[in-house]
Amino acid sequence: MSQSTKRSADAKEWRKLYDLTLWRRLRAQQLARQPLCERHLKDGKLVPADTVHHRKPHKGEWSVFVDAENLESVCASCHSSDIQEEERNTRVPIGLDGWPVPQGGGSQ
Ligand SMILES: [Zn+2]
Repeated sequence: MSQSTKRSADAKEWRKLYDLTLWRRLRAQQLARQPLCERHLKDGKLVPADTVHHRKPHKGEWSVFVDAENLESVCASCHSSDIQEEERNTRVPIGLDGWPVPQGGGSQ
């Protein structure tokens, strides 16, 4: 129980990162660079992306959070299904208004 309290406290901290102008700019740049969902693209499907996902969980780490190379354009359905499924497999809870909350534990 205390562990989940700790986690939600972390999530609250990280949420601030997503409110930053810098993040909004990075997100906009990523979507401008790759306006299509990269997950669907692998299947040859053209679906507009509206979400920017961190390939490697940033765990609140600034250098990882702002690394443009670590960003991935995805559509809402991939973000809510595939990625949450992946995160669930690595025991990562969902928070931050639907964003996965990276906890590490994987080697990615
Ligand atoms: Zn998609």
